[in-house]
Amino acid sequence: MKPVFGQAQCSHNTPMTGAYILILFNPRKQLIKVGKLGKIDFLKGYYFYIGSGMQNLEKRVLRHQSKHKKNKWHIDYITNKFKFIDAKLFPSSKRLECQIAKILGKNLMMIKDFGCSDCRCQSHLFYSPEIITNFKKFGIAKFI
Ligand SMILES: [Zn+2]
Repeated sequence: MKPVFGQAQCSHNTPMTGAYILILFNPRKQLIKVGKLGKIDFLKGYYFYIGSGMQNLEKRVLRHQSKHKKNKWHIDYITNKFKFIDAKLFPSSKRLECQIAKILGKNLMMIKDFGCSDCRCQSHLFYSPEIITNFKKFGIAKFI
C-alpha cells in the first residue's frame, strides 16, 4: 500500500489562543518614553502586563521575550528594557484580557492608559514592588 501524503489531520497543530499575564522585572528606577504616552517614570520592581494572542498565544508571548524588535505596542518599549521573568497563560477561545485587567486593577497599582488603546480599560499594566506568582488570591481562579 502506498503512503498517502497531504491528508494528515493537523488539528493538533492548531495554535493555542487566549490571554496572558507577562511578568517583568525592572532592575532600577528609569524614565522610559513609551510612544505617544510620553515619558513614564518606572519604579524598581515587578510589572504585570495583560494581553492576548487570539491567533497564536505562544508566538505572541515569545515575541515579548525577544530583545530585538521594533516598538509597535506600548509594551515593546519596556520589554526591551526590563527582564522577562515569566508568563502565565490562560488558554481560551474567548477574549479574557480585559476581565483579567479589571481584576488586577482592583488589587495593584496601575500605569494609567498603558496597553489599552483598543479597549475601555484604564490600564493593562500593573505594578508591585514584590513579585506575585499566584494570581488566584485576586479572584481570577476561574480563568486558571
Ligand atoms: Zn482592556
